[in-house]
Formats: sequence, structure tokens, C-alpha cells
Amino acid sequence: MGLTTTHTQANSYRNMKGKFPIEKFRQTQTPFYYYDSGLLRQTLRTINEEAGRHEGFCVHYAIKANANPKVLNIICQAGLGADCVSGGEIMASINAGFPASKIVYAGVGKSDWEINLGLDHDIFSFNVESVPELEVINELAMAKGKVARVAFRINPNVGAHTHANITTGLAENKFGIAMRDMESIIDQASALSNVKFVGLHFHIGSQILDMGDFKALCNRINDLQDQLERHHIKVENINVGGGLGIDYQHPNRVPIPDFKAYFDTYARFLKLRPGQTLHFELGRAVVAQCGSLITKTLYVKEGACKKFAIVDAGMTDLIRPALYNAYHKIENLSSEEPLETYDVVGPICESSDVFAKSIDLNQCHRGDLIALRSAGAYGEIMASCYNCRQLPKGYITEDFR
Ligand SMILES: *Cc1c(COP(=O)(O)O)cnc(C)c1O
Repeated sequence: MGLTTTHTQANSYRNMKGKFPIEKFRQTQTPFYYYDSGLLRQTLRTINEEAGRHEGFCVHYAIKANANPKVLNIICQAGLGADCVSGGEIMASINAGFPASKIVYAGVGKSDWEINLGLDHDIFSFNVESVPELEVINELAMAKGKVARVAFRINPNVGAHTHANITTGLAENKFGIAMRDMESIIDQASALSNVKFVGLHFHIGSQILDMGDFKALCNRINDLQDQLERHHIKVENINVGGGLGIDYQHPNRVPIPDFKAYFDTYARFLKLRPGQTLHFELGRAVVAQCGSLITKTLYVKEGACKKFAIVDAGMTDLIRPALYNAYHKIENLSSEEPLETYDVVGPICESSDVFAKSIDLNQCHRGDLIALRSAGAYGEIMASCYNCRQLPKGYITEDFR
């Protein structure tokens, strides 16, 4: 990558195309991820401002959405905690500088080495999803002479109006402990010497835009809290997970999700007890809009009944369209010519390697730079080497200065 040529600001940025440093992009090997660090910082300021209006709100970032070290570093500097779902994520968050006291660790299948890693670092809590897991954590903690803080992930049987593959809070999903077993597992924990019950954990799904879904979770938690209170069980921490969605249709118009509505919903409907801390684990809403996958048009092919723009990025770089039929706004950064209709497809030997069908783009030519927007979450982190391809690199704004 040669980043030596200098260009004027006016030349390098295009307002209507997301303020991309296009001249620098031209000199960079495609495909790659580009993260607008200014937008990321602004998003984090908004989160801190809106959560900060409410007593006892504590925000974690769900590492699984994007673990690019430069991105993690910016999020860590904003003071968020880390929500991890594997030992690798615990290591990534420690390496990025997140204090262990702000790390929570969830996951339906934690390996012994992962639990030991969490114990060695004295993480804030293990979000436990079954009785056998509780017993293993107790044993491993005992072997180290430690007491593990545990929260129980309860399956609240609350549906989210989102893609079926990304709902997690229904009774049929593999996640969490059934509500009817909640008190029994809290009792069992109190009988174990090396675990300490510190709270309840929930997470109902992802890409949720209907605040009514979060309100439904609040109502369910209120009922569970009343039940526990009747039995004199004290709960220090409530963790409501993440799931706030973003506007994939309008990345330019709505670059920052409505965090005010999100946090206000919890402030209004969740009855926190005095001294309780309310934890959030936001992933997508933090990083999705700041990221784009930048790719180059290899060929424009006239099919029997349609035109294909064949680009050098594929489902190995961004799998969401193939996996969830997800929509990403696509822009031709190199052309202002009249719109034409294309299927935008990648080079991978799979029929599902299609980013979009029948979309309008400024007329495409070989070499045109194409941006797949809103790709900061579940993009780079889900990339694979299928077809012996190289993993895409990730750059932040500062890398192109
Ligand atoms: C995936 C996940 C999150 C983050 O979800 P988003 O939809 O990206 O906000 C939070 N908590 C848990 C336990 C998760 O598995």
C-alpha cells in the first residue's frame, strides 16, 4: 500500500458518499474494511451521554461484533466495559486495555481453559447458562482458591421482531436458563463455596428496532425481580444484553442509532432496586455504521436478462447477505454517471455469493470503487479464508492521513 500522494481535502472527500478518502482508497489493495473513527468516537460520546443521564447504567461493548484492535482501542478509551463470548475475546479485550473488572463473559459452552482464563484475570462475572456449567466453574475456582462471580442468564421467553436466526430469548432457543429454574439455580449457587451469585443476565436478540421488545423484556424482569424479592433474594446487577438495531437503509441520514430512546425505555420501564447496577452489552449499534467494506469492480458482465457488477470482495469478506439475506446499502464511489440496475456479486464459487440483486448504482466500469455500507458489525470478524482467500485488512481514518 502506498499512501504517499497528497490531495486536497476537497478532492479526497465526497459529501454524498460518506466522506471517504477516495484517493487513498485508490492506492490500497482491495477488498478492505474502512472504519470512520470520527463517527465511532461520536457514537461513543452519544452512548456515554445518553446512558450517563440515568443512575446506575453501565455500558459494555460486545466484542463479537468487531474485534479489530484499532476499533477496540477507541472503544476502550471511551470507558466502556467488554462483553465476551469466548476465551479469545477475553484475550482480545485484555490486550486492547479493557480492565478485567469491566469484563463479563457469556456463552452456552465455555471450555475449561476459557473459564480458567476468566478466573486468572478475575473478570467481573461469568454469565452462566446451565447447572453443569455452574458446577464446573465452582470446581475450577476451588482449584485456584478463588471465588467466581456468577450471573445467571435467564431465557425470558420474549420474542424480538427480527430475523429468526438472531432471536435468542425464546424458550425454544439454546441460550440461558428457563425462568422456572431461576430460583433453584440461585439456591444451588448459594450452597457452593467458590461461586458468588451477583446478578441476572438477559439477551433477547439482535437488530431490534421496536422499543416495545425491550419494554417487554423490562416487564418480564420486573416480574422476576418481584418473585425473588418475595423470597428475600438480593440481586446486585441486572444485565439486559444488547440488540439495539441500526438503520441499514440510511447510513448517511441515520449514522448514529437512537440511543436516547433505547436507554430511556429501560429507565422508564425497568424498576431498578436501590443500589442496583443496570448493565448493557451493545455490539452492532456501536460499530456497524462506522464501517464499510471497500471493493473494486472487476468486470461488468451483461447476462441474458440482467447486468452483473462482479466485485473483488465476496461472502468470505462479508457473509451477512449470504447468511441472513441482510441488506447493505451499496454505493459506487467512482462514478456520478446515470443509474443502472445491477446484481452485485463476488468471485466465490457459491451461488449465494451475492451482495445485492437488482439495485441501482451509478454506471459501473472496471476499476470503480464500491462501498458496502453499515458493515462495521459482524463483517470483518466473520471473514473466512474459504477458496484460499486472504482475510481483508481493516483500516481506520488515521491510517489514511
Ligand atoms: C451478541 C451478543 C450481544 C450483542 O448483540 P448486538 O445485537 O450486536 O448488540 C450482547 N450480549 C450477548 C450475550 C450476545 O451474545
